[in-house]
Amino acid sequence: MMFRRKSQRPHTGDVVELTEVSKIYPGRTGVRALDDVTTSFARGSFTAVMGPSGSGKSTLLHCAAGLDRPTSGRVSLAGKDVGALREPKLTTVRRRHVGFVFQAFNLVDALTVLENVVLPQRFAGVSPDRDWAREVLDRVGLRGREHARPGQLSGGQQQRVALARALAARPEVIFGDEPTGALDLATGREVLGLLRRFVDEFAATIVMVTHDPAAAAWADRVVFLADGRLAGDLTAPTADVVATRMTELTR
Ligand code: ADP
Repeated sequence: MMFRRKSQRPHTGDVVELTEVSKIYPGRTGVRALDDVTTSFARGSFTAVMGPSGSGKSTLLHCAAGLDRPTSGRVSLAGKDVGALREPKLTTVRRRHVGFVFQAFNLVDALTVLENVVLPQRFAGVSPDRDWAREVLDRVGLRGREHARPGQLSGGQQQRVALARALAARPEVIFGDEPTGALDLATGREVLGLLRRFVDEFAATIVMVTHDPAAAAWADRVVFLADGRLAGDLTAPTADVVATRMTELTR
């Protein structure tokens, strides 16, 4: 079994909670990238975050993941109040509880596939569970490739390595920033199908920024942003409905 059953989890309900979160980037103009955002992400759910360019999607992801701090408001991540954590404790929480998948796969080419997958655990000071890492690689269809170098793999395979890396530490939540942005349509679908499976079969919690309505349709819910504010929330999205909503937001 990939993740513990829901009932064995230390806490249930929302893995990430944002309460009245605002983020103002300092500087002459003082951009209000997030404006009073309150939302949460439930354990075992798959959420897509959408909105026009500059609407605050990346900022939301960074604040929710503890990569950046809000100017005001509260972020709770895996039951911990991010604002109350000083470095290096925040980094430790992030490394232990959060997995990331980016558009650029961000793999270390000097390391093997298996070494890449266990790297976050090493950084977190956890002794890597190699058997488990192999099983995760198996699940993403990379059995037998654990000793390959990322450069020897296709783009889709490299993103599968990144997925395995995100999953291998059994994180409380996985954040994706356009994880299919660099992939062709068919390969992107395979990656989305894997994310969907991790949610359905193992109660993984995924929050994914995307601009693609077809990608968002794989999620359970879509959260829309416009000018740093929440601009709607949709459950059981279809690509058509999402695309229509996006057109309304960019008008
Ligand atoms: P999105 O991901 O939806 O494109 P972002 O979160 O990247 O939106 O940006 C939201 C707003 O904040 C934009 O106006 C952007 O220019 C601004 N912004 C983002 N990052 C910074 C930064 N580091 N410094 C100043 N302004 C920023």
